[in-house]
Amino acid sequence: MLLRHTPEKISERSALVINPAKTCQPIGAMYAALGIHGCLPHSHGSQGCCAYHRSTLTRHYKEPISAATSSFTEGASVFGGSANMLQAINNIFTVYEPEVIAVHTTCLSETIGDDLKQIKKKAANEGKIPPGKEVISASTPSYIGSHVTGFSTMVRSMAEMAEPTGKKNKKVNIIPGWVEPADMEEIKRLVSLVGVPSILFPDTSGVLNSPLTGEYKMFPGGGTTVAELKSTGDSIGTLALGEWCSSDAARYLDTKCKVPCSVLDMPFGLKATDRFIDALRIVAGTTVPDEIAMERGQLVDMISDMHQYLYQKKVALVGDPDQLIAMTEFLVSLDMQPLHIVTGTPGKKFEKRIREITKDMPHEVNVKAKGDMFLLHQWIKNDPVDLIIGNTYCKYIARDEDLPFVRWGFPILDRQGHQYFPTVGYKGGIRLLEKILGVLLDRQDRDAPEQKFELVL
Ligand code: SF4
Repeated sequence: MLLRHTPEKISERSALVINPAKTCQPIGAMYAALGIHGCLPHSHGSQGCCAYHRSTLTRHYKEPISAATSSFTEGASVFGGSANMLQAINNIFTVYEPEVIAVHTTCLSETIGDDLKQIKKKAANEGKIPPGKEVISASTPSYIGSHVTGFSTMVRSMAEMAEPTGKKNKKVNIIPGWVEPADMEEIKRLVSLVGVPSILFPDTSGVLNSPLTGEYKMFPGGGTTVAELKSTGDSIGTLALGEWCSSDAARYLDTKCKVPCSVLDMPFGLKATDRFIDALRIVAGTTVPDEIAMERGQLVDMISDMHQYLYQKKVALVGDPDQLIAMTEFLVSLDMQPLHIVTGTPGKKFEKRIREITKDMPHEVNVKAKGDMFLLHQWIKNDPVDLIIGNTYCKYIARDEDLPFVRWGFPILDRQGHQYFPTVGYKGGIRLLEKILGVLLDRQDRDAPEQKFELVL
């Protein structure tokens, strides 16, 4: 009973967060930056921040995460970190030779008021940025937003690298949002099956799910190249997957480079994947290839076979807005009943969207943006559910309330496989269903009296 002090009675809280359902902005900025080929993320702040961000990503992706830091001490904390940053840019290009340094701020450097764009200009004027190399930056103070907003801000900085030439490249920009490396790989597979030439950014596949070869590579083979990022301004359009993670970058390219954008949901589950495939089909001016139609049919078959075990099961969800919106829609389409939904990321639009998706539910749905896990636990105590879906931290609630639990989202610190098995697309939908059914049927077996302990479904 680790959370035995969580009371059932819910008191209104405005300033206090207990067990946050989010983590800090720079973690998102760092993850996004790792999706650029040859990029070294750089944390402009103290060493402790950088160590925390790296270790969180390492624990989730089970890969060593390289990142540099401005290493603030007392002096930089008082007088500003400009000198540290200039020294860092010089050192990093000299020692590690990345293609890009992607700098993000932290609470401390933002509070001091360091201006990254000005520091970058000074570094360029002093010849500290070698020809052909890039420094990009994102403002990510962690006292606002969440890891999701940090991710989005860094992705927008990537869009700002666009250098339109006036000649279209016939490609479509795909901004996948914060999904696993395997999801990025799966999105690329679907895009290429439909036959759409594309630039996917960021792209952490081949970076954070690379094989063990016995040879250390500071910069693995994957990632969107600088040349690709520069040509995003010449693309014929952008498909941004997820309002929170991807729309800022897409709208920047739309406004500044006249690359029209469509913002779609992340392709988790049947309907959101249908919309994604349809958007690709329209861009390519073609029909849906048989291979994709086959995968869709397999997902529909599995749903119809397993519907009896999913029907009316109540679910509590915690995670990031873009993922939760698509997952809630998927659960509703399975005749399951999302009951409590919490994200730690701010955004009133989230609550509105979830209410639209769940408007035909037979009960009122509890939904909160900028909420926390403590509130989720209280809701569950007051109105129990059959299943929790969310990140690793849900395991405490699952244990205390004796609930089946599916790990999905970020971070997953205590299991493996999420970086290799996609949950986007139709194949990903099959994987999600398998995970959900697995824990529900394990629970049914555990609790079944002997005369109902079935061998065959
Ligand atoms: S919350 Fe702020 S101070 Fe703490 S690790 Fe994140 S960036 Fe650093």
